[in-house]
Amino acid sequence: MELLTIGAFAKASRLSPKALRLYDELGLLTPARVDPDTGYRRYAPEQLERARLVAWLRRLGMPLARIRQVCAMDPGEAAGEIRAYWARVEADTAARRDLAAFLVDHLTGKDPAMSRTTAPLALRYAALSDTGRVRASNQDTAYAGSRLLAVADGYGSGGALAGAAAVDALRSLESETVPAGDLLGALEDALGRAEQAVHGVASPGDDGADAGTTLTAMLWTGSQLALVHIGDSRVHLLRDGELFRITHDHTVVQSLIDEGRLTPEEAASHPQRSLLMRALGRGADSTPDLRLHDARAGDRYLLCSDGLSTVVPAGDIHRVLADTPEPEAAVRELVDLANASGGPDNVSCVVADVVAQA
Ligand code: MN
Repeated sequence: MELLTIGAFAKASRLSPKALRLYDELGLLTPARVDPDTGYRRYAPEQLERARLVAWLRRLGMPLARIRQVCAMDPGEAAGEIRAYWARVEADTAARRDLAAFLVDHLTGKDPAMSRTTAPLALRYAALSDTGRVRASNQDTAYAGSRLLAVADGYGSGGALAGAAAVDALRSLESETVPAGDLLGALEDALGRAEQAVHGVASPGDDGADAGTTLTAMLWTGSQLALVHIGDSRVHLLRDGELFRITHDHTVVQSLIDEGRLTPEEAASHPQRSLLMRALGRGADSTPDLRLHDARAGDRYLLCSDGLSTVVPAGDIHRVLADTPEPEAAVRELVDLANASGGPDNVSCVVADVVAQA
């Protein structure tokens, strides 16, 4: 087998000798032979394909460790891995797009020229949480007040306390006047307090060490609703008769769906469908998704724990929200539907209508 010098190999692969030395150092492309005396690297012609693949994958932004894995795979497997990687990049970009939109909306809202001239808006709301038909206790918390809507789904032995503590920490936002322009800071501070409160429940060594919670909440500013979301509770918006889901689950199965490794149908019966990627709890990634929604009279929001969404089809949720004018009756009916479907989990619903103030 005729080995190529690094210069010849560089020319043939259209990569620089510098890049080839780097790939060698990173363990991505080891020369076929290294002269023990001179240190000269020599490459086999059949390494060209791999050299080019490494270059393309680096151009794609793939992390080095993953490039190493892809290079060790057969072509079919490698194709699947690249597809999954790219789907993840797009999902992450979508999440950052939401954050960018949040910041744009937030900063635009500060412009005095944008001040509203229409009638002031208010919320009309109801919250209901139920143990369900199977669980011994209720670890969910549902809360609705004039400025805060929240659902928390606790887990672990101190899960109920963790969820309640997280929501309680956010409730300080109701009484404190959030200075216009410091909404982000106020939310971040409140989340920090919520996290501390959950850690307080989950102090290591005691029974609650494994306790944590999801937290999905909306803060009313008078003209907008700021959404904070960590975990697998969900928010739906009913607007002009259409139902939109405005949160993305932070679960392992959702990320498998995002990566194209699982279909939504397969996910519905996946044994680990409730395994969380993010949560408030010790050792958990608590990065929140943030969004800002302009309030529109006639909008209806539903916050719910997974105890509703896993057993009640979206079509039924849509129908109840569209056909039940009173928030109290709507949350009651949704909880009843979950229980009629077996009520396998705690179920929590918050319904809030944006209404023009009389
Ligand atoms: Mn649950």
